[in-house]
Amino acid sequence: MKRRDILKGISFLPFATTLGGNLIIPRKANAGKLPSGKRDLFKELGVRPFINAAGTYTFMTGSLMREEVLEAIRGTSEDFCLLDELQDRVGEKIAAMVHAEAAVVTAGAFSALTLGAPGVLTGNDPEKVKLLPKIEGTGMKTEVLCQKAHAIDYNHAFTNTGAKIIVIETAEELGKAINSNTALMHFLNIEADKGKIMHEEWVTIGKKHGIPTSIDIAADVPPVSNLWKVNDMGFDFVAISGGKALRGPQSAGLLMGKKEIITAARLHMPPRGANIGRGMKVNKEEIFGMYAALHHYINYDHDAEWKIWENNIALIENAAKSVKGVTTNVYVPKLGNVTPTLELSWDTSRLSVKDLQERLRNGDPSIEVMGRENKGINITVWVMRPGQEKMVAKRLKEELSAALA
Ligand SMILES: *Cc1c(COP(=O)(O)O)cnc(C)c1O
Repeated sequence: MKRRDILKGISFLPFATTLGGNLIIPRKANAGKLPSGKRDLFKELGVRPFINAAGTYTFMTGSLMREEVLEAIRGTSEDFCLLDELQDRVGEKIAAMVHAEAAVVTAGAFSALTLGAPGVLTGNDPEKVKLLPKIEGTGMKTEVLCQKAHAIDYNHAFTNTGAKIIVIETAEELGKAINSNTALMHFLNIEADKGKIMHEEWVTIGKKHGIPTSIDIAADVPPVSNLWKVNDMGFDFVAISGGKALRGPQSAGLLMGKKEIITAARLHMPPRGANIGRGMKVNKEEIFGMYAALHHYINYDHDAEWKIWENNIALIENAAKSVKGVTTNVYVPKLGNVTPTLELSWDTSRLSVKDLQERLRNGDPSIEVMGRENKGINITVWVMRPGQEKMVAKRLKEELSAALA
């Protein structure tokens, strides 16, 4: 059917009806019956759903949205509003929650960095906005400084703006690298302890030279206090993921910071189109969803949740170490993905990590765990649904004892 015919068809549909505000178009004029029961799209499409005992990984579709987030999305799904008005109002609310002057919902932490940097490069000049990513020779500053330990793949976010990344190691090298082309000094929280310059010194040096500072805290809640700690420290803009522990939409994140930077960053975002950010669109689903996620996260009983995580980890640990030859260790990463993490080790010449992963993957229910090369596996419980920890404990014990006992 041609597009024209489809459009023509819709205008003639006598049986088109609405259900909860959604337009339902019957397949045949007299076949308006809706499928009963819950539709299993995973099954229909032949996609394998699994219990995520690994963590918040993009390739595993991140995390699961909280019910409060889904409610916010559903509850606002039947009306339109102006995209900018919504970002204004939600931005004000979020900014107040995280001690920032301003905030905007972006398409993730990477997107927040890609948009925060041009907020610094172009200011509010609409002509400059159009020039990105060709900034050389325009009079715009072109260099983003970061420490060697902080030079990760995600810094490509800055390269997307046309900027160059200059890597330094010591405070002395930093001092020498700062020049009239320096646009930004970027810091990576998850590798903070691996760098030679810590947060406060980074911000102080930036302020001394009049260079804005930014920080990537994509995976750094919990603790919840990190949401405002870095803003209180004086970073000019901050990027965080919405789809990790915050459990908002996976395709959302936050850019928060100085008002002038956020205002300028928004010139690079939809609904405007002549910019580098048009392809990083978030709509009211992500914006309301992020607002609900953040509100819920900040008001949540984190101690109670932590106890549940510890109990669930202990349950799986006990099941695994009841198998002879399996050793366990529980630790909490100091930076990034701060959640109880169970390390399992055994003689991998008897059962390779890949084999165990395959067996868990192909079992019922399917389970994904994270491998540590061929040394063992790691397990987290923070994106599991209640009760799934029992299935993980049972399946792990079955497979480990079949191979090792
Ligand atoms: C996950 C992550 C990102 C990317 O975040 P998105 O929200 O997926 O764009 C960037 N930096 C770090 C350190 C991360 O862990």
